[in-house]
Amino acid sequence: MPGLIERYRDRLPFAPGDPVVSLDEGATPLVLAPRLSERAGTEVWLKLEGANPTGSFKDRGMTCAVSAAVREGSHAVVCASTGNTAASTAAYAARAGLRGAVIVPEGKIATGKLAQALMHGARVVALRGNFDEALALVRELAREQPISLVNSINEFRIEGQKTAAFEIVEALDAELDALCIPVGNAGNITAYWRGFKELGARPRMLGFQAAGAAPLVRGAPVAHPETVASAIRIGNPARWEEAMDAMSSSGGAVEAVSDEQILAAYSFLARSEGIFCEPASAASVAGLLAHGAGDAQRVVCVLTGNGLKDPQTALEQAGAVITCEPELDAVERAVLQ
Ligand SMILES: *Cc1c(COP(=O)(O)O)cnc(C)c1O
Repeated sequence: MPGLIERYRDRLPFAPGDPVVSLDEGATPLVLAPRLSERAGTEVWLKLEGANPTGSFKDRGMTCAVSAAVREGSHAVVCASTGNTAASTAAYAARAGLRGAVIVPEGKIATGKLAQALMHGARVVALRGNFDEALALVRELAREQPISLVNSINEFRIEGQKTAAFEIVEALDAELDALCIPVGNAGNITAYWRGFKELGARPRMLGFQAAGAAPLVRGAPVAHPETVASAIRIGNPARWEEAMDAMSSSGGAVEAVSDEQILAAYSFLARSEGIFCEPASAASVAGLLAHGAGDAQRVVCVLTGNGLKDPQTALEQAGAVITCEPELDAVERAVLQ
């Protein structure tokens, strides 16, 4: 299978013959969620972006950003990240044979993402500051050095990520009334809206932020964003205006969900739908359950990343392991009770 640049080349800024750095990203599952549909009172589909090569949707943008970096002759790629961009940057840099460097907020990134960035051989810099500060610093760094910045302020990221909207339109034959999506730095909602518009689809864009990191809901940056959903712990989204435009011109909205609502949706998806996403991803479903989707008949919730990224939060939420003597009786009791 070719990656998404090959599949959608006619809609992406890459000519035949341009270098392509791919791990066969995209073409992720879109599954009907019967129990969630019942609870939400509308037909709900889940777009499983955790099925991408490094476990999050960031790979869609990264194949384009890193391919463009190679085309431009860059020797290194750098990003600021709450975790998944770091994992994806590190993997695609390794694939391309480029140096990768990632700046993450110290102590604030999920274990799996850190393991990925380190395993792929990236320089991992833990900043004594938050994501917004990290982003300001890498922007400056990329201005002064011949390094490609691969955060979602990079246009190629948005171009790659819009392909998720193409896949949804193709799979549902454009029959879709609303899209629920978590919003952090606001690149992804911008990308989906661009993708839908290119194909003439206009689902309502419903963006959800964590209550402790909800600048778009408040209408002002948040100096010290806090939430269990580390991937959306962002106080000053880079794509602020574009995200607001996507929501207002589609007749959508931006709303906040509490950490409690996020964790409840996270557990519900795992137990009742068999889908293990990360906490930030569950904000889309938490938002749908808390705020509804108006009169939408068919809704897609984007599950942005894989649950294995953040085993700590999972173990804090899940039930305990049952210890047992190596005897049939004891095992029977342990299994059936
Ligand atoms: C990056 C990320 C988000 C937020 O996407 P933005 O483009 O920053 O709004 C949400 N969930 C996960 C798992 C992510 O990695």
